[in-house]
Amino acid sequence: MSNIKVVKFGGSSLADANQFRKVAAIIKSDENRRFVVASAPGKRFSADVKITDMLYACYEKAAKGEAFDKDFDAIEKRYNSIISELKVDISLEKEYENIKDAFAHRAGRDFAASRGEYLNSRVLAAFLGYDFIDPAGYIKFGEDGSFDLETTLSLLSPKLKSIENAVIPGFYGSMPNDTIKTFSRGGSDVTGSIVARAVDAELYENWTDVSGFLICDPRIVDNPKTITTITYKELRELAYMGATVLHEDAIFPVRAAGIPINIKNTNHPEDRGTMIVSESADISKYVITGIAGKKGFSVINIEKDMMNSELGFGRNVLRALEKNGISFEHMPSGIDTMSVLVNTDSLRDKEKSVLDEITYRVHPDHMEIENNLALIAIVGRGMRKARGTAGKIFSALAEAKVNVKMIDQGSSELNIIVGINEEDFEDAVKALYNAFVK
Ligand code: ADP
Ligand code: ASP
Ligand code: MG
Repeated sequence: MSNIKVVKFGGSSLADANQFRKVAAIIKSDENRRFVVASAPGKRFSADVKITDMLYACYEKAAKGEAFDKDFDAIEKRYNSIISELKVDISLEKEYENIKDAFAHRAGRDFAASRGEYLNSRVLAAFLGYDFIDPAGYIKFGEDGSFDLETTLSLLSPKLKSIENAVIPGFYGSMPNDTIKTFSRGGSDVTGSIVARAVDAELYENWTDVSGFLICDPRIVDNPKTITTITYKELRELAYMGATVLHEDAIFPVRAAGIPINIKNTNHPEDRGTMIVSESADISKYVITGIAGKKGFSVINIEKDMMNSELGFGRNVLRALEKNGISFEHMPSGIDTMSVLVNTDSLRDKEKSVLDEITYRVHPDHMEIENNLALIAIVGRGMRKARGTAGKIFSALAEAKVNVKMIDQGSSELNIIVGINEEDFEDAVKALYNAFVK
């Protein structure tokens, strides 16, 4: 392991000239912060629009053959104001022309979105006096579109070994035929993790606009407490359920090499933030580590007498989903009932076909689809040892008059998931936070 720190700055950390100044001060205050991964400029205030979203909208027009000059002007303005305010010795005019030309020639949605981090990293590299490395040549996806870690490391590691300091745009890489491909939204976190792995970093610092991973979403509970230490596994559970501080796939590249991640606040660099580690010796002050949840689930309730003794019943139900290209989230069951929870979006326009297929395969006595459900995950390595956690969850929700429609405890005893009506979501999160943390 080296003493190198890889630092990734999110969109709000690089949203304007003032944020750029903070970022530069953070980087320059520690000479081990040698490799910087940058996002596209994010929101400067809550009603603002992220550059990535502006690029998607702009490209949509371009792809339809509509005029998009005005939309692109607004994008140029954001970068130009950063450049002029900071007096950075760089001009992006030529880049803008190339990008507009590529848009007009339908260069692809991923290419369009990737230009946000590309341009921002050009500016940041010039501002810091660092090299610029285009990930198109180093971060590679396979033929099937999945990220190829092995090829990536074989290209990126030797390149970075030969360089002292560099800025690398987040969010994208390229396909075997060299067209640009992005990760899913929030994917600069993944790039940071890949770069950390490629240089065998001592630490991957992920700088954002909150002082670490909070016990629950700050948009639901005011000022939730910060999680000081969290394991990769706990984090994945929370990230998957909507705590999107860190992209859920950002764990894999660093986990294999045991590189810890530190979530830090660009606006309060003195705060310790959250450490994400493989195993944690210290027990959280509370039984739980975090709470996260998502709306937009549906449940298919299936009833049939004696289904428990019918061989292959579950498999046949899942087969019916598989045939429709739907994956399931949870599947609690009783003696004569089975419920399959799925993402509502994945079921759209397929309800009839799914129900017909299930009927054909297992002939249920009764079946219905219920929509507008939310799931909440209560996650914590401390739950294994504690008694009465489920009881505490139920009573907190009952007191808040929230009807629990489903409960599912993972076999690792790391999480308990409850299904509730969407309209109860915010109340339920608040009630759970108060029960365990306050
Ligand atoms: P960046 O642009 O730096 O990548 P993101 O917007 O992707 O930042 O992630 C940070 C945001 O995640 C916070 O501003 C906060 O609103 C939101 N968030 C949701 N759940 C949590 C949580 N449990 N802890 C902290 N932040 C959370
Ligand atoms: N700019 C991209 C997005 O908005 C990637 C990122 O910020 O991580 O999703
Ligand atoms: Mg993010």
